[in-house]
Amino acid sequence: MATAKQLRFVAEYLIDRNGGAAYQRAGFKATGNAAESAACRLLREPEIQKLIEDGEGKLRERVEREQDDVANMLWTIATADANELIQHRRLCCRYCYGKGFRYQRTANERERDHAQWIVEHQDDDDEAPAAVFDEMGGVGYHKLKEPNRDCPECFGEGVPDVYVPDTRHLSDAARTLYAGVKVTKDGIEVKMHARDAALVKFGEHLGMFRQVHDHKHSGAVGVAEIGDSIAPDQKERVAKEMLRAAGYVIDD
Ligand SMILES: [Zn+2]
Repeated sequence: MATAKQLRFVAEYLIDRNGGAAYQRAGFKATGNAAESAACRLLREPEIQKLIEDGEGKLRERVEREQDDVANMLWTIATADANELIQHRRLCCRYCYGKGFRYQRTANERERDHAQWIVEHQDDDDEAPAAVFDEMGGVGYHKLKEPNRDCPECFGEGVPDVYVPDTRHLSDAARTLYAGVKVTKDGIEVKMHARDAALVKFGEHLGMFRQVHDHKHSGAVGVAEIGDSIAPDQKERVAKEMLRAAGYVIDD
């Protein structure tokens, strides 16, 4: 059985492969050449060799697991739906669903305008014909409805609307893409991790790129190698996207 000091030596040796230094860090007394020869003797013992092999195996597994985690995270950043973080929407206009395509109010707006109208007309001369409150397009305006194709005011294009969802309820993918918000005097800016950089790093991790030098034209030429995981009709598009993101200028 290896002693506690020997086990410590194995752990230290796995850090920097320096036998003499590991020997001293493990708490053995020897220094200099004496430490190195003692470490050499220890490293020749089958039990110690087995412990180092096991340690290396575990280290390799951990590195592979961590690489997988990082690769998954990069792929998630590159492919998550940005609409989960911020949306630009086209919503119905005030006239889309109004009666006769006239301006439509919400129930509360109608109440408010009507009260205001009463205040404005309370001193009306009794002799004059009674004024009538203009209901316009009626009530029922709902800003989240789709634009009406037949609307003569917006022509079915609706009005632009920017919406930032509650980031506490994001999906795991969107949460990975999300990098916080910045509150400015002009509003809030949603930050995201760089998708193109993530895509390039992911491609590099898979060994998709190699750079070759074109001696005729001094500049570097990028070559993207796309694996079989991508459908054939997508390959060219993905390759171009990756190379562009890596800074190459590619003609379509
Ligand atoms: Zn409209």
